[in-house]
Amino acid sequence: MAEKGSVEEALTQAEEKYRYIYENAVEGIFQISLDGRFIGANPALARIHGFDSPDELIRRVTNIGKQLFVSGKRRDEYLRLMETEGFARDFEVQVYCEDGSVQWVSLNARVVRDKEGKALYHEGIVESVTERKKLEAQLLHAQKMESIGTLAGGVAHDFNNILTTVMGYCSLILMKAGPGTQTTSYVNQIMEAADRASALTQNLLAFSRKQAMATKPVDLNEAIKVVEKLLRRIIGEDIELKTSFSQERLVVVMGDGQIAQLLMNLATNARDAMPDGGSLSIKTEQVHLSGEFMKAYDGKEGAYAAIEVSDTGNGMDERTKDQIFDPFFTTKEVGKGTGLGLSIVYGIVHQNKGYVNVTSQKGLGTTFTTYFPLAESADSTVSIQEKEELKGGSEVILVAEDNGDVRQIVTTVLRDFGYTVIEAVDGVDAVEKFNENREGIDLLLLDVIMPRKNGKEAYIELKRIRPDIRAVFMSGYTGDILSKKGISREGVPMISKPIVIEKLLKQIRELLDARSSQLSLFP
Ligand code: ADP
Ligand code: MG
Repeated sequence: MAEKGSVEEALTQAEEKYRYIYENAVEGIFQISLDGRFIGANPALARIHGFDSPDELIRRVTNIGKQLFVSGKRRDEYLRLMETEGFARDFEVQVYCEDGSVQWVSLNARVVRDKEGKALYHEGIVESVTERKKLEAQLLHAQKMESIGTLAGGVAHDFNNILTTVMGYCSLILMKAGPGTQTTSYVNQIMEAADRASALTQNLLAFSRKQAMATKPVDLNEAIKVVEKLLRRIIGEDIELKTSFSQERLVVVMGDGQIAQLLMNLATNARDAMPDGGSLSIKTEQVHLSGEFMKAYDGKEGAYAAIEVSDTGNGMDERTKDQIFDPFFTTKEVGKGTGLGLSIVYGIVHQNKGYVNVTSQKGLGTTFTTYFPLAESADSTVSIQEKEELKGGSEVILVAEDNGDVRQIVTTVLRDFGYTVIEAVDGVDAVEKFNENREGIDLLLLDVIMPRKNGKEAYIELKRIRPDIRAVFMSGYTGDILSKKGISREGVPMISKPIVIEKLLKQIRELLDARSSQLSLFP
């Protein structure tokens, strides 16, 4: 008798132990009937699906296939696996929660059979993998961004050289043609287009973080007002543009032209989404971001400027929405879409420590809201540049540049403005030409990246020959690529490509006029 009692006790103990595991498991544990109802569920399963208790889950979910599975196709795949294999392992699927939100879960399940092999029910374990899925998606996106960044960096270098030539000769024509002629207006249009192309390269480089952008405080409302006219041109007459600006000034620190680029890209997409017309609204306001929003974005709480761009266009479904920030993702036909517009928006937003949020509904329109951290002090803002008179000179300048087109336009302009120019095709040539002229040379204009000897190496060598020699560097890259190549940005007079002739002339004049000797570049 005593023996029987201890067996019973042991059994109760074992049952209690298993019950304890069942009740307290982190994973959801389930038994489901063949017609898709819960027979059993533990508290963790209820939690995963957002229900208060297992009882509530069992009572309210009467058709698992319909009520919990987001995709009917995936549900069928699951059933097929269970039928053919008898089990499903690490089966990842999206499920609905009580509040309608969607979660990723991973299922491990098997069919439980009777002695004759007849299926009785399914049982298994469910694990929430939403966080992991989110991280995976982020990683994948980051990798894509990285690879397109590498690509963009490579292309931008050559592209900037080409743009330098286009813009350079345009500048020359403008100088020669004088104001007000028809030629001037044509060339101005070419210049405008080239400017946009240049802004695009800068942004490509910026979003791939291959370029450290010069940033400055920008009054958002003012910046938007400046591009309003351009946006109207982009969207055309069938689409109405409405703007609403915050009362307070919204000063953010951003790169030159980034707001214009961002709005242009969003407006272009809005236009494409409204082939039969509609309206595009741009609204700015100051917001305080905290709580749930910041948790979702893993961001910093604080005061932000919000720019809301909404259209009344076709909208998009969830699937499309998930991919829009991917480089090269486009739903437009070949030649119409590049799939880069929103990647660039994404880049601009991230580079400036901001956030972007999209809401869209098929047929009802789309809203892009971007948030940028407000600058601490709101004092200095953008000033519109005035035209200055260009000054030349009679000094001697040694120009070293391996790209023939760029070399030609630079030397042509410098000669046009009275300078004497000595040309070199690379760093080694620069050193030779320098040695032939030595004391006669007033300034070096050196491309950073050249074959045989790069700009930095040539400069160091020439500085040894004549310590007082001054130099300006030309480069298609700035920031981290240069520092990787051992050239720091600090104290380096640097002109970035595509070279704007006016800037080049101004910088050269300033440098030649500066009495104080140049800062030591490579200490
Ligand atoms: P592209 O415009 O070249 O296709 P984007 O990166 O600018 O590339 O946009 C990617 C995709 O996002 C578009 O092809 C389109 O499917 C979708 N999209 C972007 N903006 C909108 C919008 N306002 N309304 C509807 N769909 C949009
Ligand atoms: Mg686009």
